[in-house]
Amino acid sequence: MAEKRRSKFLVVRCNECGNEQVVFSHASTPVRCNVCGNTISVPRGGKAEIKATVLGAVE
Ligand SMILES: [Zn+2]
Repeated sequence: MAEKRRSKFLVVRCNECGNEQVVFSHASTPVRCNVCGNTISVPRGGKAEIKATVLGAVE
């Protein structure tokens, strides 16, 4: 795959309950909040669309 090396782990905050958790920026499956089940990340052909507030990246 010609994927650029932009993948990383992001710290996000759920827009529904405020829970913070780490999601992979290129997650290939939907990610839900561990607390309330709100969808946090949706796969979009390689790069994930983050549906929560991105607080920062984990290096
Ligand atoms: Zn939540």
